[in-house]
Amino acid sequence: MRPFTYTRPAELAAAWAELGPDAMYIAGGTNLVDLMKSGVATPAHVVDIGRLPLTGIEVDPSTDTLRIGALVPNSDLAAHPVVRERLPVLAEALLSGASPQLRNLATLGGNLMQRTRCGYFRDLAMPCNKRRPGTGCAATDGDHHRHAVLGTSEHCLATHPSDLAPALLALDAVVRIDGPAGPRTEPIEAFHLPPGATPERETTLAHGELITGVDVPLTALGAHSHYLKVSERASFAFALCSAAVALDVHEGTVRAARIVLGGVATTPWRAYAAEAALLGGPPGTAAFARAGEAATEGARPLRDNVYKVELIRRVVARALTTLEGDRG
Ligand SMILES: Cc1cc2nc3c(=O)[nH]c(=O)nc-3n(C[C@H](O)[C@H](O)[C@H](O)COP(=O)(O)OP(=O)(O)OC[C@H]3O[C@@H](n4cnc5c(N)ncnc54)[C@H](O)[C@@H]3O)c2cc1C
Repeated sequence: MRPFTYTRPAELAAAWAELGPDAMYIAGGTNLVDLMKSGVATPAHVVDIGRLPLTGIEVDPSTDTLRIGALVPNSDLAAHPVVRERLPVLAEALLSGASPQLRNLATLGGNLMQRTRCGYFRDLAMPCNKRRPGTGCAATDGDHHRHAVLGTSEHCLATHPSDLAPALLALDAVVRIDGPAGPRTEPIEAFHLPPGATPERETTLAHGELITGVDVPLTALGAHSHYLKVSERASFAFALCSAAVALDVHEGTVRAARIVLGGVATTPWRAYAAEAALLGGPPGTAAFARAGEAATEGARPLRDNVYKVELIRRVVARALTTLEGDRG
């Protein structure tokens, strides 16, 4: 590991003041320390944000919004009564990730900022446009069976690994950001960037900016939601395909729907065509199969990940079926 210096400021402004050009923030460290040990991340200075006052979870009654601090551990968020009762997709997504020990350390902000699990990104001996722009993408002709079928470019097909991010996208969450240029907010849908020709740029954060929290509206849609994850093992594995789904059904008709895919795209992927396939009609087996089919719109599989297209169909249909079954 490259030697580095370390500071632990207690105030926000000090955090970005200490973040020089060759420095990185660290929160729980469950992703960054791995990358530093393997030489993928080589900051000369690490700014530990663990003392910043970003640990609260509170309901803003004036807007009926859950305001979550960026440093809230994944385990605390999953156990929070408002999340369990009014945002089931969020609790289920959190509990599907990693292990209890990791969830105790992993933070909300760190989860949204975690890097891809693409093996070539983590292997310094291999070309990777995300790690070293302009070197090429070894996954295109190499082992890409876990890679993305949606949102890819000729430069990168690495999946976004988070379980939390698809759930937050299904809930229309808004990311709170602060930094040298002042505070701003951004819908989570705009926060993660598709790779295009610059796969090294994964979010809209400028250097020095940090996530201070996430706001989640507490709606009827969020209250009737579900997360389904399919992976190679039942636990402690990243998603091959997941779906965060939410439905608002009134008098037998779908009034609103959210269908967001994880594990199959380069960013958390909102399947608009699948949502449209449900709107204005009755929920049920036929409609859910149509939504599953529509969710594959735009998929561009390669040699070894064609199976993910069928997985999308089945995971979306099953997630919706489970959700409606829950209505009793
Ligand atoms: C074995 C293993 C299994 C895992 N399985 C899953 C899984 O199934 N599903 C899943 O979703 N995740 C999984 N993870 C990933 C894990 O959830 C992330 O490592 C964790 O959420 C990162 O949070 P952290 O606080 O530890 O981030 P850190 O490691 O501290 O930081 C990660 C990155 O985020 C940046 N960062 C951190 N906080 C902020 C902030 N507030 N603002 C701006 N930048 C910030 C850091 O600079 C760094 O680049 C797994 C991890 C491991 C090691």
